[in-house]
Amino acid sequence: MSGNVTPRLMKRILILGGTTEARLLAGRLAERQDVTLSLAGRTENPVAQGVPVRTGGFGGAEGLAAYLRENSIELLIDATHPYAARISANAAQASRLSGVPAIALRRPPWKQAPGDRWTEVDSATEAASLLGASPRSVFLALGRQELTPFEATPQHAYLVRSVDPVEPPLGVPTATYILARGPFSEADDRALLEAHGIDAIVAKNSGGQATYSKIAAARALGIEVFLISRPPLPDIPSGASVAEVLRLSDHVLATEKRGV
Ligand code: NAP
Repeated sequence: MSGNVTPRLMKRILILGGTTEARLLAGRLAERQDVTLSLAGRTENPVAQGVPVRTGGFGGAEGLAAYLRENSIELLIDATHPYAARISANAAQASRLSGVPAIALRRPPWKQAPGDRWTEVDSATEAASLLGASPRSVFLALGRQELTPFEATPQHAYLVRSVDPVEPPLGVPTATYILARGPFSEADDRALLEAHGIDAIVAKNSGGQATYSKIAAARALGIEVFLISRPPLPDIPSGASVAEVLRLSDHVLATEKRGV
């Protein structure tokens, strides 16, 4: 018998995840393809993903390219968070190095609506300095790795909501910590902002529904929001929703099969 001549019906797909959309996309694609989801391993107890998961960094673009080759991956999908710029750059570079096609799920940013009081800033450091000298009550809707710039502005009282505990806590006199995982509701976020007398929010323009509640609640309450600008991401074929990326993945896999 010569070797394996039967083409695999299921295509091997690696999804770089860590987002709600990545999980939903993985579930839908797994109905017809051989899907593995990759997580960075930042969250201590990630929600069940419903498909096989591998965890931890690959060792840069070269490491990811080696993984793609060694595991005979036929399509790489970058469905990471819009602020996860390093892994997105690595995905594009690994695709070039390995010849494995790559596509992305790029969540569109939120757009300012009437009543929003947004100030766009380049970084958490800029947001901290723009909060001003007078003490304020500030909701930091940021990852725990992004909080240290606010130690330079200890005159404010901070409310921090994160999935995992902030360890060590912020080096400021007044900080309250809430452990919670989205999605959140506008009513709950409104109650939270009112209960803590919040007059400023610092957040990322993450897009999507899961964390939009704080933006809508801030609008209703007239609260100022400092939004950190998105980092630049590589220009690879992308869709803005799970449905769009499903169609795009079908198209790319069909094109690859024909060798065009
Ligand atoms: P990052 O700065 O772009 O990535 C840093 C390093 O973490 C990467 O170089 C890679 O290590 C590893 N990594 C990141 N995502 C990975 C994945 N899905 N699978 C395997 N390794 C991964 O990203 P980050 O801001 O630390 O975000 C990490 C993860 O959390 C992402 O999966 C992202 O979707 C999710 N997340 C991020 C945010 C955010 O605001 N940044 C918010 C919600 C969820 P190697 O170079 O060693 O491969």
